[in-house]
Amino acid sequence: MTNYVILGTGVAGIAAAQAVRAIDKQGKIIFVSNDPHWYYSRPGLAYYLAGEVEEKQLYPFGPAEYKALDAHFWQATVSKILPQEACVLLNDGKRLRYDRLLIAVGASAVHLSVPGAELQGVVKLDHMEDARQIVAQARRGRTVVVVGGGITALELAEGLAQRRLKVHLFIRTARYWSSVLDESESNIIQHRLKEDKITVHYETELAEILGRQGRVTGIRTGNGQQIGCDILAYAIGVQPRIQLAKEAGIACERGILADEHLRTNFPNIFAAGDVAQVQDPISGRSVIDSLWAPARDQGQVAGTNMAGKSRVYIKPVSFNVTRLAGITTTIIGNVGLGSGRDEDQVAIARGDSETWRTIPDAIIAQSGFDVNHLRLMVTGRNIVGAIVMGDQKLSAALQTLIRERIDISSIREQLLAPHAPIAEILAGFWSQVHDFRSRRPVASASAPTLRRVSSIG
Ligand SMILES: Cc1cc2nc3c(=O)[nH]c(=O)nc-3n(C[C@H](O)[C@H](O)[C@H](O)COP(=O)(O)OP(=O)(O)OC[C@H]3O[C@@H](n4cnc5c(N)ncnc54)[C@H](O)[C@@H]3O)c2cc1C
Repeated sequence: MTNYVILGTGVAGIAAAQAVRAIDKQGKIIFVSNDPHWYYSRPGLAYYLAGEVEEKQLYPFGPAEYKALDAHFWQATVSKILPQEACVLLNDGKRLRYDRLLIAVGASAVHLSVPGAELQGVVKLDHMEDARQIVAQARRGRTVVVVGGGITALELAEGLAQRRLKVHLFIRTARYWSSVLDESESNIIQHRLKEDKITVHYETELAEILGRQGRVTGIRTGNGQQIGCDILAYAIGVQPRIQLAKEAGIACERGILADEHLRTNFPNIFAAGDVAQVQDPISGRSVIDSLWAPARDQGQVAGTNMAGKSRVYIKPVSFNVTRLAGITTTIIGNVGLGSGRDEDQVAIARGDSETWRTIPDAIIAQSGFDVNHLRLMVTGRNIVGAIVMGDQKLSAALQTLIRERIDISSIREQLLAPHAPIAEILAGFWSQVHDFRSRRPVASASAPTLRRVSSIG
């Protein structure tokens, strides 16, 4: 009987166990996790914070799903991996022997390193206990300063604004998420933040957190401004938890290096999810995808290989649906605009920045109408990336056009014409593609007013 030990009960670990169990009915699966809440939706924490869902809605598994895994759960922190002895050491003194080990311990929030960071009232949104703590503090708090320029910082700002706190948002750059969004897209978000009465401080650095009797009372910025607050919330990026692996001699760069089978440099040790830096056989690059769906897919592939079958992980075209200042936003493929590494880009690392950082040799076509906004990155024959804000009718079609590299040369000139009705053109084209593939008609997408903006590359 094979002993499978899985470190972490996030989506990567759970998906791996499901894949193992589908193949090996007899093997023993042991999970080790230091999170007392086991498996829950970490993206859902933002909705919980905003009061839009209850905590119980964040748990995808009930007793039946846990039973189907037929696994043992051990709540402890792993303190060492000993590959030579094929075992892991836990902080409660237990030793667990493994035949196959999966490291799926995720990534953790980058910590603030300014004076006062240890004060009560300084919070981050990383796991369930963080979310509970923020909700508890928000009940007593009146003013919060949120530090960070990416999605999680915005989720914190909005969640706390919905809990009726006065919110200040500090962003290092001159506009919101400048490494991914173009100026008009940032403007849409910034306008919404204003409507929600969130005060955004651009090009502002936190220098110090001020306190009295161990509690936050305010902050001081880099240029000496002081703002009173009871909560300081931060989201300045995530980093893969590679310490255990490094100490064990498992090859790491920014994440644990895993080949296309999710195997590390030790044949019986695998890595998946936010902690893994995975070889992509298509691009030849090694990438970290700090996103839910890739973590799940990598877990499935790792589990299949752990159970003795052979499966390769092929990185899909990135597809991330998120809500920015209440506006549903889908980011597909390669849309990067920025260069260099700023705070935003660290935050994007959570949102698949690996592809976004590369500027394609592409032309941008763009439309804007209220919050229905569409930007396409178009090369000679293909659409390589898209941002869809607001109306999402075209996002599934765009995902297919981008993922399958469908030749759009027949509509390229139309798309790039001044004031082209891009959404209508795309909807028409998509219905032809869809008809051709399925012989079924599709509903056409609504068409906001559209305009061509610029070209790059
Ligand atoms: C607030 C928030 C919002 C997000 N929003 C989105 C979104 O909109 N879209 C999206 O795609 N992604 C989003 N993400 C990212 C997504 O949640 C992660 O990519 C995904 O959960 C990673 O899963 P994982 O299994 O690799 O790691 P995790 O879910 O982090 O699980 C790691 C597990 O390892 C355990 N662990 C860690 N160290 C040890 C140790 N030493 N010993 C024992 N156990 C240990 C932890 O307790 C945990 O069980 C969001 C994340 C957060 C925090």
